[in-house]
Amino acid sequence: MIYSAKLSSKIIKNIISNKIRGVDKIPYTLMLEPLFKCNLNCSGCGRIREYREVLSKKLTVSECIDAAQQAKAPVVSITGGEPLIHPQIKEIVNELLKRGFFIYLCTNGLLLSDFVDEIKPKKELNLVVHLDGFSQVHNSIAGANNVFEKAIEGIEKAVKLNFRVMTNTTIYKNTDENEILNLFSYLMTLGIQGVLVSPGFHYSSVEKKDMFMEKTEIYKTFANIYSKLNGIKIYNTPLYWEFLQGKRNLKCMPWSTPTFNVKGWKSPCYLITDCHFSTYREYIENTSWEKYGTDADQRCFNCMMHCGFEASAISSAGMNDLLKILKWNFS
Ligand code: SF4
Ligand code: SF4
Repeated sequence: MIYSAKLSSKIIKNIISNKIRGVDKIPYTLMLEPLFKCNLNCSGCGRIREYREVLSKKLTVSECIDAAQQAKAPVVSITGGEPLIHPQIKEIVNELLKRGFFIYLCTNGLLLSDFVDEIKPKKELNLVVHLDGFSQVHNSIAGANNVFEKAIEGIEKAVKLNFRVMTNTTIYKNTDENEILNLFSYLMTLGIQGVLVSPGFHYSSVEKKDMFMEKTEIYKTFANIYSKLNGIKIYNTPLYWEFLQGKRNLKCMPWSTPTFNVKGWKSPCYLITDCHFSTYREYIENTSWEKYGTDADQRCFNCMMHCGFEASAISSAGMNDLLKILKWNFS
């Protein structure tokens, strides 16, 4: 089962309780960035470039808990930077779990092997390791040797210790589809839960712009990958995959994944930044939402990232779509 009964019921409860209270900007996943410092310097990374002047800053444990309680999204995705280099990451994870949040802890995997010795596995904790190819390709994108090997070592150990592990892959213009499919098959043999995949986003702070795909290239690439999945478990919903293949129109819902970091609540979304607000409420009430989305802002034009569109896929689902989601969830 992709989403456990507990997580599914939390997500449904979150939607219903917000609708009853008349809230139309419903948060699904809080993107929590406790720091931007990283032990890598990947060529496609917008974060370490955009936030270079605050690389030494980090959120405290209580700031992280407060952000989760302000947004009240059922899921917290802890990202960065590299969250595992935060000195209080264990406390942040444990305190969030204690308060009933589901966690997706995103990491490049370099420190995973040590981290899993320091924390207990739980059904509500998912470790998400970023991998963009086999050794040669992944290490070249990451800009260092042995990154792939260390990540695999961490994945194997985490799986052996009964952690829920999945991977996250970004597809770039020159990504070799066959390599990615072979990578996914290989990762499934290691005992991971499944894979998350999304196209890279044109971050304005990344100088190498020609590495990102235009929309038509995204449609073609994702249709090719989808046709050859052969039992590989994909963690993105089938509706989002239809969108990636150009078979479904979706309107971005940037508020569905509010982002909190050392500068505050990032507006309008996880990907682009026009300003930061000090509270979640100010972020929701003072962002001019009509200014954003693929028809409204040029920066959004090629965006098909799950942080904007996965929740729209769920919220626009009709009866047939819900059946598709159920089938996918129990696959
Ligand atoms: S590991 Fe992640 S945060 Fe670190 S440089 Fe690479 S993409 Fe950026
Ligand atoms: S389309 Fe993408 S970049 Fe634009 S607001 Fe939505 S998520 Fe952000």
